[in-house]
Amino acid sequence: MLREFKLKTNAEDLHSITQPVAEAVRESGVGEGICVVYCPHTTAGITINENADPDVVTDLLLGLRKAFPDRPEFCHDEGNSAAHLKASAVGLSVTIPIADGRLLLGTWQGVYFCEFDGPRNRTYYVQVS
Ligand code: ZN
Repeated sequence: MLREFKLKTNAEDLHSITQPVAEAVRESGVGEGICVVYCPHTTAGITINENADPDVVTDLLLGLRKAFPDRPEFCHDEGNSAAHLKASAVGLSVTIPIADGRLLLGTWQGVYFCEFDGPRNRTYYVQVS
């Protein structure tokens, strides 16, 4: 089963998508399998990280900004090379096992859509099999 989701993002943001992904798994009726969450963009990504303390998301974004600053020597005309770098570093998809009809996420784990060049209208896909 493949589901498409739409998302309106902020300038730079880790947007929790755990709920819609979990619902897609429930709707699929798959008891044991694999869930792939995929983002078809080049300046956004998908990651799994802590869902409890919102400061973790703040620190992730701060760390990525420090690791991948905008540089005057970048060649890409669009001027968003730092966002492309962050997207490649974070990755464009995650794979989560399904057991007993549920995502096998740890207690403190959540799934995030990572926007690095917003605000934009974005799409992500959830494949359950
Ligand atoms: Zn670009």
